[in-house]
Amino acid sequence: MKSIKTFKKHFPVKKYGQNFLINKEIIKNIVKKINPNIEQTLVEIGPGLAALTEPISQLLKELIVIEIDCNLLYFLKKQPFYSKLIVFCQDALNFNYTNLFYKKNKLIRIFGNLPYNISTSLIIFLFQHIRVIQDMNFMLQKEVAARLIALPGNKYYGRLSIISQYYCDIKILLNVAPEDFWPIPRVHSIFVNLTPHHNSPYFVYDINILSLITNKAFQNRRKILRHSLKNLFSETTLLNLDINPRLRAENISVFQYCQLANYLYKKNYTKKN
Ligand code: SAM
Repeated sequence: MKSIKTFKKHFPVKKYGQNFLINKEIIKNIVKKINPNIEQTLVEIGPGLAALTEPISQLLKELIVIEIDCNLLYFLKKQPFYSKLIVFCQDALNFNYTNLFYKKNKLIRIFGNLPYNISTSLIIFLFQHIRVIQDMNFMLQKEVAARLIALPGNKYYGRLSIISQYYCDIKILLNVAPEDFWPIPRVHSIFVNLTPHHNSPYFVYDINILSLITNKAFQNRRKILRHSLKNLFSETTLLNLDINPRLRAENISVFQYCQLANYLYKKNYTKKN
């Protein structure tokens, strides 16, 4: 395992959210939680200085890594485990995960200590590839993790909670302190697992309609639905769907948002046909 001196040789690039994991116990725990199996296809986002790459590649025949900072490749190339890596020096937000699935013919497992500035957009982007993903294990800023798991009525409940819970079962795995990273970030972190539902409790005909409705509803989370959704649903429709028009966006469950999305889908579908 690398010493702190190794870390300090690389000047961390702030715009890439480079806060490297340095606590060996936490790294060990993360590897245990990910529990890689030699038969699986694993993809790491942002290997950085290989805190997770090294121990995980040792458990696999090969490990796919996506790193935006090509300067880090000089470091990776010198490591004994480099021959096990398939390196993509590119933005993880442009990577085609579905193509990788077709190449490997196996569902993919994605993990990483994510740069905080892209974590939310990356998770939403990955939902577009959900059909080829076995699971995702990510280190996130504590507040982002809180938004993923928040239930109606919670102050963190919002669009990210709804879309994430629509697609995945989400579990908090570890709490990680700022001192476990170098440089020390200003935020606390949480390591989470997102596993696509095997038997989903939710269904929508069109995910874009769900997105449209939650967007409108949460534009002003304190507005009651009768007002925020007035251009999409009449008060009578809300009542017919058993949804109290006086409730606010933050009080509506994922299931109820799905009901609203499907109502709209069917209404437009009936109109067109
Ligand atoms: N995995 C290392 C660790 O745990 O110490 C580094 C984690 S560091 C928080 C985030 C890593 O993601 C950095 O190596 C950074 O260069 C990389 N990164 C940042 N933005 C990225 C992007 N859009 N696509 C791929 N990698 C990115």
